[in-house]
Amino acid sequence: MTSRSAPLPSYWPEGVPRFLTTPRSSLYHNLETTAARFPDKVGLWFYGRELTFAELLRDAARLSGHLQRQGVGKGDRVLVWLQNSPQFVTACHAVWRAGGVVVPLSPMLTAQELSFFLADAGIRVGVVGAELYTKARAAGLGHAVVANCCVGTENSPVPVPETLQADEHAEGGDVTWAQALSGAEGEVVPVGFDDLAVMPYTSGTTGRPKGCMHTHGNVQANVHAAGVWVRSSCEDISLGTLPFFHVTGLVNSMLSVVAGGSKLVMMARWDRVTAITLIREQGCTLWTNTATMIVDLLAQPGLTQEDFRSLRRVSGGGAPLPEAVGRRFEELAGFRFLEGYGLSETMAQTHTNPPQAPKLQCLGVPIPSTQARIIDPETLTELGPGETGEIVVSGPQVMQGYWQRPEANAEAFVELGGTRFLRSGDLGYVDDEGYFFMVDRLKRMINAAGLKVWPAEVENVLYKHPAVLQACVISVPDERTGERARALIVLREGQSATGEQIAEWAREHLAAYKIPRDWQIVDGLPVAGTGKINWRALQEQVRQTMTAP
Ligand code: AMP
Repeated sequence: MTSRSAPLPSYWPEGVPRFLTTPRSSLYHNLETTAARFPDKVGLWFYGRELTFAELLRDAARLSGHLQRQGVGKGDRVLVWLQNSPQFVTACHAVWRAGGVVVPLSPMLTAQELSFFLADAGIRVGVVGAELYTKARAAGLGHAVVANCCVGTENSPVPVPETLQADEHAEGGDVTWAQALSGAEGEVVPVGFDDLAVMPYTSGTTGRPKGCMHTHGNVQANVHAAGVWVRSSCEDISLGTLPFFHVTGLVNSMLSVVAGGSKLVMMARWDRVTAITLIREQGCTLWTNTATMIVDLLAQPGLTQEDFRSLRRVSGGGAPLPEAVGRRFEELAGFRFLEGYGLSETMAQTHTNPPQAPKLQCLGVPIPSTQARIIDPETLTELGPGETGEIVVSGPQVMQGYWQRPEANAEAFVELGGTRFLRSGDLGYVDDEGYFFMVDRLKRMINAAGLKVWPAEVENVLYKHPAVLQACVISVPDERTGERARALIVLREGQSATGEQIAEWAREHLAAYKIPRDWQIVDGLPVAGTGKINWRALQEQVRQTMTAP
C-alpha cells in the first residue's frame, strides 16, 4: 500500500507531490478562468487560423446557447463528431457549459456504427463535421450543428487535407456552425465535480462497444496531473497530433492547453512533413503522440538536431515504442521519449515515465494520486515484483463504470485491501524500483499503430456474410504498425468467396481501420475445451511461424 508518508522514490520529479488535490471546478470553468487571465492570447492555431481564449469562450457560449435551445441540459449526451479543429474544442466547452456530456467518436466510423452509438448513449443532438454530415443523417441523428473545420485557411502555410474541404450546409432542422453561433448565449448550467462530463467508447470481448462514464473530477484529475508532471506553463506551445476523440489527445493536448493557458498547434491528421515544419515554425515545446508517429517521423530523411531544438518534452503511449527507435529519438532530441500508459477507462494516463529517469520500453510509474498492482488474473491475489500478472489501477481518473452495462461493471473492478481497482486486461510486471512493464494482453484486442481493433466486433459482422460459416480474427506482428489483424474464414458448404470480396462487403459495415489486412480461407478452425474457437492457439501458432528465423 502506498502510504502518504512513505518516502518518495529517487526518480520522483522534484516538487511534484505524491498526492495531488484535484481542482473541484467544472471543465468549462477552466476555459472561463484562462480566458479571464489571458483574453487576447492565442490559444489555438489551426493551419494559419488563430483563436484567442476570449474568442474561444465567446464561441463556446454562443454554441452552448444554441444547444440549450435544442433542449440540451444537465446530463444529456451530445455527439462531438469532428476532426481535430478549433470547432472540436469549442463544441466540448459548449456542451459542458450547457451541463451536457461529451460523447467523442472517431470520424472513421460508418453510418451503421454511428447509429449504434446514438442509440446506446441516447444521443439526439450532435456537432458534426461537414464531411461527415451525410453519414450522420443516415445514422438518424436528431439535430446536427454542421461545422466545416477548414474555415479561414487561405493563408495557411501548410495545406489543409482535401478530405476536410467539404461545404458547410444543413438540411431539415439542422443548422450550420455560423447559424448556431448567431443567437443568444443561454446560461452557464451549474455542474459539480461528480457530474458526468465525457463518455468515450471502448469495445470489448462481446464486441459491443461500451461507454466509459467520466465525471468532471475524473477528467480534471488527469488534466491537472499532466500539467504538474511536465511542469507546463502558459509559455508552452503544444503540438496536437493525437485525435481529440481519443482520451489521450483530449486530456494531454486539448484540455491541458485550455487549463494552463498555453498554445495548441493543431493538426487535423498525422503527416510527418507538416509536423516537422510546425515544430520548427511554431517553436513547439511539448508534444504528446503515439509510438507510431515517432517511428514515422524518424523515417523522414535528413532530420537534424535543429528540427527538435524547440522541444523540451515528448511523451506518449497507446502502444510500445521499439527500443532502437527510442535511442535514435534520444540522439536527435537530446532527451528521452517519455512513454506512458493508460486506457479509455482511465481518461488517459495512469502511468508515465519520470522525466529525470525514464526507462525504454517501459510504461513508467503510477502518476500522482494513482496506485497500481499486479494480480493473478485467476485468484485475484496480489503478486510481487518481477512476477507477471494483470495490471490493475486505482486513482481519481478511473471511470465511474460503463454506461448501462451492469454485467461488464461487475467484471471490470476488483477490491484489494478495501480499495477498488480497475482491471486493465493487460499483462505486465513491476520491477524492484516500481516501474511497470507490459508483456501481453489478457483481453482480446489488436493494437494496430495505437488504433484498437476488437476481434469480437469484427467477427460479429463477418458472421453476417452469407458465405461465412466461421470467422476468427487474430493479431499478427507487423513491422510498421506493431500488430495487424488477420481473418481466418471457414466458408459454408457450396459457397465461394475470396477474402477480398468479404473485405469489400465488410467495409460497408465497419470503419476502414477495423478491416483485417490479411485474409485466409481455411478448412476448419481449432476449438477449445469450452467449444469456442481457440483464437489464442491460432494466434500463437501464426506468431511463431512469422517470427521464426
Ligand atoms: P484505449 O482504451 O484505446 O486507450 O486502449 C488502451 C490499451 O492500449 C491498453 O489497455 C493497452 O493494451 C494499450 N496501451 C496503452 N499504452 C500502452 C503502452 N505504452 N504500451 C503498450 N500498450 C499500451
